[in-house]
Amino acid sequence: AKTSRVQVSLYDQDLDRRRREHNQLTLDLIAAFENAEADGGLPFEVYYQPQVSMRTGRVAGVEALVRWQHPERGLLPPSDFLDLLERNGRMGELTEFVVWSALRDTATWERTGLAPLRVSVNLSPVCLTDPAFPVMLQQIVGAGIDPSVITFEVTETTLMKDPERSMQMCGLIVEAGFGLSIDDYGTGYSSLAYLSDLPATELKIDRAFVSRIQHDTRVRAIVSGTVDLAHQLGLRIVAEGAEQSGTLGLLRELGCDEVQGYVYSPPLPAVQLYAWVMNQETVFNSR
Ligand code: C2E
Ligand code: MG
Ligand code: MG
Ligand code: MG
Repeated sequence: AKTSRVQVSLYDQDLDRRRREHNQLTLDLIAAFENAEADGGLPFEVYYQPQVSMRTGRVAGVEALVRWQHPERGLLPPSDFLDLLERNGRMGELTEFVVWSALRDTATWERTGLAPLRVSVNLSPVCLTDPAFPVMLQQIVGAGIDPSVITFEVTETTLMKDPERSMQMCGLIVEAGFGLSIDDYGTGYSSLAYLSDLPATELKIDRAFVSRIQHDTRVRAIVSGTVDLAHQLGLRIVAEGAEQSGTLGLLRELGCDEVQGYVYSPPLPAVQLYAWVMNQETVFNSR
């Protein structure tokens, strides 16, 4: 009885500490948005992870992945703050920040010597029902930017909040010429109805499958079938979260178009991504 009381109180303390941290983080977040102008912008930084073409061996695109540069806690991953943003009604602003950062960074890379790269941006559920979102799409097109450089990533959960309006927005995204990717494919219900209704241009097979294709023949069969299905629907297929070089040959054999994962590189700050791609190109050209 004594030990369990100790455990319970430790648990309470832990919960209490986590709750305090969470509250503090919420306050920090609100302050960050309120002081953004005085502080010279939001404290977020966009990292980029390369997507390598299995056909050419070269980088074809990048995924934009946001981080929060917190003054005391350092670099925070999206899992620490996305829900806070959502609950504080700041997700739209975050998305705009990520999109314009991504467009600025890819333009800089291109100006300084890289071949044009596509960039993927993750969308949260609120984006697909936010009237400000299509306004941003118009602004992008209005700025003379080729919409096909951006691919917006959605998951089944992203669409679930308000399926009808979300589907409509997806239609708009694709009609305007942007790419639309089904992210984390295989983790939800992944129903065929959703595959047939969504006007996507890309499908990303979730890491949970990619990591198992080497040793699990059933998973391999599922991935192989998914690749064929995607291709029959005219979708580009990207394997995400590839960590081992041993899976690369297999993914190529199965017909995956592109691979993204630690096997190539983790997400990197813009300047480092540029250097990484430059180096890849040098290696490539010297072969
Ligand atoms: P996601 O879109 O599925 O992104 C892939 C996640 O897997 C990223 O985590 C990436 O760093 C990680 N990853 C990539 N390759 C590997 C690998 O080989 N092994 C392992 N273990 N992990 C790998 P990250 O950056 O922490 O992002 C987590 C999630 O947060 C993203 O999942 C996405 O759903 C969300 N997210 C990130 N940035 C944004 C954003 O700007 N807006 C919104 N709405 N969501 C975002
Ligand atoms: Mg994604
Ligand atoms: Mg994913
Ligand atoms: Mg995810």
